[in-house]
Amino acid sequence: MGMDKEEKKLLPNGGYPMHTFEDVKGLFFPYITSKKGRKLIEDAYLLATEKHSGVFRKSGEAYIQHPIEVAYILAQLQCGPETIAAGFLHDTVEDTDLTIEDIKKRFGEDTGMLVDYVTKIQRMKLSHKDEADFEAEDHRKIFIGMAKDVRVILIKLADRLHNMRTLDSLKPERQIALSEETLNVFAPIAHRLGIYKVQSELEDLCLKHLKPEIYSNILRLLNEKEANRAESLTALKKRIADILFQRKLPFRIESRIKSIYSIYRKMYEKHYNFDEIYDVLAIRIITESELNCYEILGIIHSLYRPVPGRFKDYIAMPKPNMYQSLHTTIISGDGNIYEIQIRTEEMDVIAESGIAAHWKYKEGDYDAKKEQEDIEDKLSWFRDFVFLSSDSQDAKAKDYLANLSQDIFNANVYVFTPMGKVIELPQGATVIDFAYKIHTKVGDTAVGATVNGSGVTLGSVLKTGDVCEIRTAKNAPGPNDSWLAIAKTSSARNHIKRFLNEKNAALTREDNIASGKRYISDFFKDNGIEEAEMEKLISQDNVLKEFGVDNIENLYININSRNPIPSAVFDFLGLKRIPKNNHPQIKNIPSSSNPITFDGGENVKVSLAKCCHPIPGDDIVGYITKGSGVQVHRTTCPNISNAGARLIDVHWRDDLISQKYPVELRIYANDRPNLVADVLNALATKDIAYNDLRAKLNNQTMSTIISLTAYVTDTNTLEAAFNDIRGVKGVYQIERHMN
Ligand code: MN
Repeated sequence: MGMDKEEKKLLPNGGYPMHTFEDVKGLFFPYITSKKGRKLIEDAYLLATEKHSGVFRKSGEAYIQHPIEVAYILAQLQCGPETIAAGFLHDTVEDTDLTIEDIKKRFGEDTGMLVDYVTKIQRMKLSHKDEADFEAEDHRKIFIGMAKDVRVILIKLADRLHNMRTLDSLKPERQIALSEETLNVFAPIAHRLGIYKVQSELEDLCLKHLKPEIYSNILRLLNEKEANRAESLTALKKRIADILFQRKLPFRIESRIKSIYSIYRKMYEKHYNFDEIYDVLAIRIITESELNCYEILGIIHSLYRPVPGRFKDYIAMPKPNMYQSLHTTIISGDGNIYEIQIRTEEMDVIAESGIAAHWKYKEGDYDAKKEQEDIEDKLSWFRDFVFLSSDSQDAKAKDYLANLSQDIFNANVYVFTPMGKVIELPQGATVIDFAYKIHTKVGDTAVGATVNGSGVTLGSVLKTGDVCEIRTAKNAPGPNDSWLAIAKTSSARNHIKRFLNEKNAALTREDNIASGKRYISDFFKDNGIEEAEMEKLISQDNVLKEFGVDNIENLYININSRNPIPSAVFDFLGLKRIPKNNHPQIKNIPSSSNPITFDGGENVKVSLAKCCHPIPGDDIVGYITKGSGVQVHRTTCPNISNAGARLIDVHWRDDLISQKYPVELRIYANDRPNLVADVLNALATKDIAYNDLRAKLNNQTMSTIISLTAYVTDTNTLEAAFNDIRGVKGVYQIERHMN
């Protein structure tokens, strides 16, 4: 039996007002305007009523009351039609003869999938015997369910909230167990998703059941304070309202009482006296635009003395759960201290309903998949869950929960990138955690860092306010086992583990060295040079320098990716090839290092310019250098615009052999998680190798510039790759870069 059935005792609905379908409608009609969406919800309600009919709670109320309340909470959070429909249906599969397939057939894949996950999470409870293990394991499954779709957790939160409201009907030990689980797992999730409304109610209900005396004591203090302060508060509100009205600023003022649980934490965990808590009674001013917020802040600071150190600008620097607002604390005319919050209407909805409200701002072109992606984009921590669900199946459930708690509950160090972006990390996080938070690639290639201008090691612990810049190296050796000891976040640890696993499994580097070595030594052998001799020749400093590597292993790796190809190295050494007719394979094929022809230029050295990187298919022109032959540029290259008489006509050979040429690309995109991976994936599907990858985030515009050198055979392949990259979500511009 799931917990939903145990609650059928005592007070109907815990003494809360009981809602009807009409009430739910009243909430979603203003924002769900499509016929289809409204019908989906109504049909779900009708089916749930039919399926639960004849089942009553012990208190006498119909079972359907529970799903109605769950749907009501979801509609209060302004969830979408599928989520509300799934809220109505969330107990039907567990408790009635309805199947997931039935739901999918009647309500679509999406609604069916949501009910499926909620049901699965519910069933976890039944399959475990050992209480401690079962709980950790169960939590883990819940999180993994979340990672698949954030709407699943919204339904679970609504379900839990209604169960907590009706907790009085359970046995005392069940009340305590559920309250503890709610406080440790569900309330923090609500916090992380920014759903303040649900978080604070859950916490207050938990405190009420876990520490009833403290709860009622704080409640009494609050009521007293509110009564004592009523006059002062009204005066303050009136004065502010008068001035804002005079200045013709749009506004509305609300008073807000701090949640009982948050007062409890200040009093019992941080040891404040009740009277020392300034923001017990706060004023909230809601206005139209961001600019209005700052104007109003200015006015308030000119009217009242602000308490130093209490001003917080969450508009310029939103919290990771998307919360935005200005906070300040002032001393009112009568000496009382008040916190004042200033925000726009939209910020207010998001502050109360968090990501759930996200949906509301997007009706019109609603697309459930896109919504899920957008939400995950905004909540980058979601990726931790996705990783965990895919590659740590056998990790101990308890370790997992411990790690997760560490990340979620102690996430309170804020470190800056040199560009001013704020990175949130758990207490005790190190440079390596920071590097992985910026980007997997940055983590994997990190070699050191500068914190506040001084060099530090990767294991240094960061603190709030540090400015940290990661140093990376193209040929960095990458993570090793010791990194696991210094990484504190589970996301960094998972990246490192994954990197180590891949390395151990595939030995890619060693494989590449061996294969590149085989490739070039075959070529040399064909031209009469044995491997030992070849190795001596190509390990010379001038050869390594020419091909941009610092040791022979890296040269082999590059040769393996055909950059350079063996003949280029061979030719650079000035060696004589064995005459072509002995080598049918390369007969009549021009030297691959010279894909260009021009009149009378058979013995002239030709090179492709490194500024504009011409490739076959480009319009090109030759530039006669002083002493190093002809340099081939694209006709659009700015470096030859004044070259005049030194330019000559050149052409790509008609009988070009397939060879890869470097092109420098700049890809402009709106930043989001996995952006770089998706771009690289687009290149990989066209079988295009790359190096010199860099991604730079512009903090003002939240756009990322990815630069890399790609290796392509000609403009046709490049154009095809451009098309694929343009299809990557977020990418808005690609260009070939010229130096
Ligand atoms: Mn339920």
